[in-house]
Amino acid sequence: MAEDAALQELLRIARARISSGTLPATHSGNLFAGTGQGKLCCLCDLPVGAEDVEYEVVMKASRILDAYIFHRRCYDAWVAACGSAP
Ligand SMILES: [Zn+2]
Repeated sequence: MAEDAALQELLRIARARISSGTLPATHSGNLFAGTGQGKLCCLCDLPVGAEDVEYEVVMKASRILDAYIFHRRCYDAWVAACGSAP
């Protein structure tokens, strides 16, 4: 798959998950970046391994703390999708 097609696919998934409520529509949380620990990415559902950078977004919605784990490229796709969400 070409790089652009892969990005478009991530963007498509991000938009779908935002509209279904699986992912938040705003990226107003705190962002932490670190070495992957094998947790599942909230966008592509693949583990973020030690060879990847793990992006963790911690949201505080009402009194519940939610954390979302992303690959770097998935984080970028989610941010892009947030900006273009209806
Ligand atoms: Zn991912």
